[in-house]
Amino acid sequence: MNSKACTKCGAIKPLSEFGKNKRFKDGYQCGCKDCLNKERRDWSKKNPEKNKNFKREDAIKHKKRYIEKSTEWNKNAGDHRKKIARKSAAQSCLKLKEYYIAKLLADLGFTPELITPELIELKREQLKILRLSKQLKKSCAR
Ligand SMILES: [Zn+2]
Repeated sequence: MNSKACTKCGAIKPLSEFGKNKRFKDGYQCGCKDCLNKERRDWSKKNPEKNKNFKREDAIKHKKRYIEKSTEWNKNAGDHRKKIARKSAAQSCLKLKEYYIAKLLADLGFTPELITPELIELKREQLKILRLSKQLKKSCAR
């Protein structure tokens, strides 16, 4: 059996014209590809709002859940969260990335041959000191 009748349009078409579907006895959809495509198109044409609303509702649901979760977490975390924020700020100060420093040095006119690991290390120290002095100034101004 290499062909079957489409239950939608009644045409007898080769099996290659039917989508595969294991749920059906013969392993193929009951409607031909053309008919099913047309049905799908018609449905979304008739229900453009439904289609959109589904997505919107889903997004709102997810958002709500996300907000609920994070406010709950904030309540529980309290000071702990502040500590984490302080810690990560300190870490980002220490973690002055090599490529970032190398770029700074290149901007200052250093050629790639001159930008050695030692120089990067020196620049990193300098940047750390600069940042610290800025922080000090800020806290003095307060
Ligand atoms: Zn058909």
